[in-house]
Amino acid sequence: MTFTETLRKFVLDVAGADLCGIAPASRFDKDDPIFKIYPEVKSVIAIGFRILRGAVRGIEEGTTYYQYTTMAIECLEETVMPCAAIQVANFLEDNGYVALPQRKHQHFTAETEETNPEILHDYIRYGETAEVQMNVDDAAVKCGLGEKGLHGRILCDEFGPLLRYQFILTNAELDANEMYTPHLCDKCGECVKACPGKAIAEDGKVNTWQCAAYYAGANGTKNPFMQPTAYADFDNRLDIIAGEAKVDKELCGKILDATVFYPPIGKGHAYRSSICGKACDTACYIHLEEKGVLTKKFKEKFRKRPEWKFDISDFDVIKK
Ligand code: SF4
Ligand code: SF4
Repeated sequence: MTFTETLRKFVLDVAGADLCGIAPASRFDKDDPIFKIYPEVKSVIAIGFRILRGAVRGIEEGTTYYQYTTMAIECLEETVMPCAAIQVANFLEDNGYVALPQRKHQHFTAETEETNPEILHDYIRYGETAEVQMNVDDAAVKCGLGEKGLHGRILCDEFGPLLRYQFILTNAELDANEMYTPHLCDKCGECVKACPGKAIAEDGKVNTWQCAAYYAGANGTKNPFMQPTAYADFDNRLDIIAGEAKVDKELCGKILDATVFYPPIGKGHAYRSSICGKACDTACYIHLEEKGVLTKKFKEKFRKRPEWKFDISDFDVIKK
């Protein structure tokens, strides 16, 4: 068995990852942040973890919501994946190589004009770390973990878009994965249609301010916790609740300040509870499952009944 094969076995069997991808550093541009983070890097190892279907189930049915934010985001990002990354890094260093785990720094955005919907907006430091933060989605593609779908999410053969990942940089020269030849995203547009806040343009570009507001539940027709009098101080409250409002950075902050239907995950990690549950990803997953292209099969289809929705007239109770 080669060292790369032994390492892959460790990643999957001991560290518990669902997927292991490897890219040579030469696949990255010379000015890529990986070379600032670790100038001697020779290989980038991606460890991929599935998002449980069970964690998405409650939002699909309109029953439980916390599980998505806890099990599909916080637990993976803050516990499961860092622990696995450290185990893999220890394994590499036990074998005489240098290894450095890397993850998405959730509280920092590289751009001032974009946000991270997963984090409480007033905890985010905008426009920092561009130099020293890996572009994790591009790295996932380079490591052969999956392909980029229309709305920017990484899609893999096993789990579609229900996947998260972290990385280990190392000076070990490893045998690389092939990159995906794109074959999953057929540009069906289901991700665009599914967004409760029209945050995804036809070309797949995501307006992250719009996304942040609706990720948190600003669309009342898809939010079982919203009161009929929600957003009473907003002139365009029914547009907001219907998912029709145009949301820029300023309005996003105001909407999020008034979006308190469901508590966030503590101040430590500052994860905002998701009400949309990434409906874009769920729609994509359902589409790929219906096409029969996902290799991880289940005994039942994910979508069992027509999608539910409240009526916008339920919120038309404030006369100005
Ligand atoms: S929903 Fe369709 S268009 Fe969107 S990423 Fe998935 S396959 Fe591509
Ligand atoms: S479905 Fe949710 S996560 Fe996806 S773009 Fe819309 S608001 Fe954002």
